[in-house]
Amino acid sequence: MLSRLSLQLSLILLSFSLSVITSMAGPETRIIIDAGHGGKDEGAHWYGVRESDLNLQVAKKLEALLLARNIPVTMTRRSDVFVPLAKRAEIANSYQNAIFVSIHFNAHRMTSIHGVETFYASPAGKPIAMKIQKELVKLVETRNRFIKRGLGYAVLNKTKCPAVLVECGFISNPLERNRCKTGWYQMLAARGIAQGLINSMSPLNQKKVSDEAGAAGEKAVVKSE
Ligand SMILES: [Zn+2]
Repeated sequence: MLSRLSLQLSLILLSFSLSVITSMAGPETRIIIDAGHGGKDEGAHWYGVRESDLNLQVAKKLEALLLARNIPVTMTRRSDVFVPLAKRAEIANSYQNAIFVSIHFNAHRMTSIHGVETFYASPAGKPIAMKIQKELVKLVETRNRFIKRGLGYAVLNKTKCPAVLVECGFISNPLERNRCKTGWYQMLAARGIAQGLINSMSPLNQKKVSDEAGAAGEKAVVKSE
């Protein structure tokens, strides 16, 4: 009798624990964090600052911020390794409900150019790009280069889920390069991206953002990686 009672009690406790875990699980949308470049492909490289390193540093900070909010995350790379673009898209395409966010830093031969910009390719990616860009420029205090349609990015074209590519700053600009390589700037960028993603996943925010759809500047560009 006693053992039967304790078994019932255990089952009640177990079901309670499971329901608590389920309610704490948060939104089911998985964020695929793609640290651009890596390994033999270092991306932009200016005065000893490698884009592939900065991308990974921001990606890891973004991962920590999202995991702290119980948002499931998959990283396309977690170290300085080369991952083909098709493989990155394949990882994203293995999930039913996901948002793909690729982290990059920019460079231009005209070293005065600076600022942050967010690319998208499909209509599904556009509102996410808008929300990320909006939160990013609140925090990083640099030039707002707005959202752009990036038709030449393989990771945007080959992913089936909504996908965006964030250019977190120009390492070709001396002032911006010095900021980009610091942990505090990278954390601000990660926080902006995380907030934009969280806003994208909240149904409460969707109406508000669609009302602002005409406010953000936008121009179509074709750019290769
Ligand atoms: Zn890049």
